[in-house]
This record gives sequence, C-alpha cells and structure tokens, in this order.
Amino acid sequence: MIKSVSGWVNRGLLGLLVAFTGTAQAADELVVYSARIEQLVKPLFDLYTKETGTKITYVTDAEGPLIARLQAEGERTPADMMITVDAGNLWLAAEKGLFRPVTSEVLEAAVPAQYQDSQNRWFGLSVRARTIVYSTERVKPEELSTYEDLADKKWDGRLCLRTSKKVYNQSLVATMIERHGEAKTEQIVKGWVDNLATDVFANDTSLIEAIVAGQCDVGIVNTYYFGRLQQEKGNIPAKLFWPNQQTSGVHVNISGAGITTHAKNPEAARKFLEWLAQGEAQQIFAGSNMEYPVSEAIKWDPVVESWGKFKADDLNVEVAGRRQIEAVKLMDRAGYL
Ligand code: FE
Repeated sequence: MIKSVSGWVNRGLLGLLVAFTGTAQAADELVVYSARIEQLVKPLFDLYTKETGTKITYVTDAEGPLIARLQAEGERTPADMMITVDAGNLWLAAEKGLFRPVTSEVLEAAVPAQYQDSQNRWFGLSVRARTIVYSTERVKPEELSTYEDLADKKWDGRLCLRTSKKVYNQSLVATMIERHGEAKTEQIVKGWVDNLATDVFANDTSLIEAIVAGQCDVGIVNTYYFGRLQQEKGNIPAKLFWPNQQTSGVHVNISGAGITTHAKNPEAARKFLEWLAQGEAQQIFAGSNMEYPVSEAIKWDPVVESWGKFKADDLNVEVAGRRQIEAVKLMDRAGYL
C-alpha cells in the first residue's frame, strides 16, 4: 500500500480488493515444461482444463535444454512444473535445486515409495520396463535368463545395444553397480561389449529392427518401443523376455514430474500433479505410451497386458541419478560407446 495514502482511503481500497477477489476469482493458470512429447501430454492438459478451468501453457523440448533453461531463468522462470522421462533426469533437476519438496497425502498414497524422491521433490507418473528383446527365429526363451548372462560367450556376435550415451542405459548400469559393485558390473559390461554384433544404435526402435532383420539375436530395450513397432508392423519375429525373475527383477524406470522451486502457482501445480497420479489421467499418461501406470490401482493398457506380468526391481529409482556419473565412467572404461 502507498504510504502517503490516508488510513481511510487505505481501508476503502482494501474493501474494494476483497470485493473483487470474492466475486471474480480468477481461474488457476499453470506453465509446464515437458520433455515428454506433445502428443503424449497435450491430451492430459486439455482434459484437465476441461475439468477444472485451469489454463495450461506448455513448452516441449529435450530434457537437457529444459533443465538448462530452468537453471538460466532462475527465479524469473514462468514454469510451475517440469515433466520428464527417466529418474536420472529428475534426480539431476532436483540436485540442481530446480524442484521444491511437495507435501501431499494423495501423492504418497498413489505413487509407490520406490518411484518417488525420498525428499518429495519429484514423483513418478508412469513406469517403463527396460527388458530383453529376442529373435523368435534364432533364440529359444529357455536360453535367456538375466541381463548379466548377456555377457556370456554364448552371445558372442549376437548382441545389439543402444548407445551408452542414452540415459536409459546409464540408469540400467547404475542399478547394476548398486547391486553388484563396480568391479563385477564392469566385467559384465565388458562382456556385453565383446558380444556386440554391430555398432551401438541411436535408438531402441532401430535395435529391434536389427533383430528382425537378422543382424543380431538379442538386445535390451524399453517395452513401449517394442509395442509401437508391433502396432505399426503387426506380428514381428521378435518377443520380449522378462529377465532376472529369480534375482533382482526387471529394470524399471519412470517418467515423472516435479514442481519448480520458483513456481508462481505451487498450489495449483500440486493439485495438477495429484490429478496426474490418479484415475483416468493415470490411464492416459501410461496407456498413451504403452507404459505401466505408477498407481497400482490402475488397469494396464491391453497391449501392455499381453506382454504378461513380471517381477520388477524394487530398488528406489533415485539410484539411477545417484550413481549416474559412476555408470558413465564405467561404461567408458568398458569401451561401451
Ligand atoms: Fe523413450
């Protein structure tokens, strides 16, 4: 309030303000940065706006540029929330101080502990499984067992891998370090490299296509890429296999979100995050990318269901971030490009 204005005017203005906010309550507005592609997030934003009136403005880009942008903008950022894939990325954003802790009973109930930050700075919204894919023409499922076994000589010249530059593989190796320690993990990764049939791939889709084309027999991919290819091409001579069922379980990761440290509308952002973690939104968030809902109460997409149930690794996914640097260095030493 301006200091020179008399008390009488002051009270008058205050009364006017109260009257205004009381009668014409502005709808919430949110700004979301998303490393999840537009076609996966826009339907959710639209539905939320329809249900609540909250207007959502968004920017989509790769996670690296979005994290850099949040950092550069600092407290001037317009972003209230960031959505991204991989716990490694969420962890990194949290480490850089870009997310604020969120206290929410709804989120605690909907998101299993292993899929959220122990300091509540980010929450998983869908689960992705990184598993073994194999040629049904050249491999019998009985020959498969674990990720570790893909280092065995019997797979010499038969293995395909995506580049170690992709955070998905960094996260997989990070969890292996957590389980086995560095020395054993390095031996396994070296074994993988020795068994490679060809150069590493830029993405999971071309890896599956290489298996279909006969370039290699086994590989490691996120299941939704397999699902996309299945939907596109119909029956392909490749199948998913759930490894480590007697041991650590299938490697899982998340896509998720955090509310920014400098959010202008943190309360509205929390409500939106809670909405995303439940009900129909969960079904859309996971189903539209053939991923697994983070909330156990939600039914799986029929295609996802057709791949069968599996035991997942129960480590907290934050290990993917915590051990990311070690994993990158280890893969480098092992000659995994
Ligand atoms: Fe992906």
